[in-house]
Amino acid sequence: MASTRLELDQLLVQIGQVGKRLSDIGAAEGAAGNLSVCFREQLDVSRIFPDEQRIELPVPAPDLAGATLIVSGAGRRLRDLLDSPTANVACIVVEPGGQTGRMFTSSDCEFTRVTSEFNSHLAVHHDQMRSRDVKLHAIIHAQPLHLTYLSHLTRYQEEGYLNRHLLRWQPETIYIFREGLGVLPFMLPGSAQLTGASVPALREHRLVIWSQHGVMARADDSILQAFDLIEYAETAAHYEYLNLSAGSLSGGLSPEQLRAISQHWNIDQKIF
Ligand SMILES: [Zn+2]
Repeated sequence: MASTRLELDQLLVQIGQVGKRLSDIGAAEGAAGNLSVCFREQLDVSRIFPDEQRIELPVPAPDLAGATLIVSGAGRRLRDLLDSPTANVACIVVEPGGQTGRMFTSSDCEFTRVTSEFNSHLAVHHDQMRSRDVKLHAIIHAQPLHLTYLSHLTRYQEEGYLNRHLLRWQPETIYIFREGLGVLPFMLPGSAQLTGASVPALREHRLVIWSQHGVMARADDSILQAFDLIEYAETAAHYEYLNLSAGSLSGGLSPEQLRAISQHWNIDQKIF
């Protein structure tokens, strides 16, 4: 268990850093946003989270039996995760069959349920981890200001239009998002419909915009990487917003320049 102890400590620190960064960039005001990390193996969680209860999982996750999820609590502030991780997250170990889990919390726990978006988190973790040999999978839902604002404009709800406009401001953006950003129409937060649409969209994309609400991003390596994706996309949206505010003075990098960049870096992309 020695290595899994280290893993849990390290994961909690990373989760805390991400919570703070999301708040810094204006993507997690108040109790907005939520995050989770799914670790393939069972972690030694009872040392830090000694209180245990059994819960029904919001969606079945049979292929995650034995896995450990660290999930933010409902109504908690992501900016508090760094200083008080145990008050704001729970660990859930998926039981055989994937219908129920053992939820572990700490004595200073400040919530009774995990985030209301846990259905989407769990369904996406399950879909990603059942098909690929990844040790860890991380998901963040956040509400970055500029990306979310643009998603209120009808033309940015069209995936092709959004990608052609957002990926034109910095040379590396097309390198990072060669598969493009995904876009879903507005659906009720926490709904089964949103979960059902997010799973296939996050197969094609690592970041998907939930129109008129926010984004969901996923990463295989660490939650820091999922945060990076949100920061890159939000920066691109900020450029686009600045340009709109300035009366669209610039066309950004041209499609020819972006094709030359793609060729130079061997990027297989179909956006430009
Ligand atoms: Zn939200």
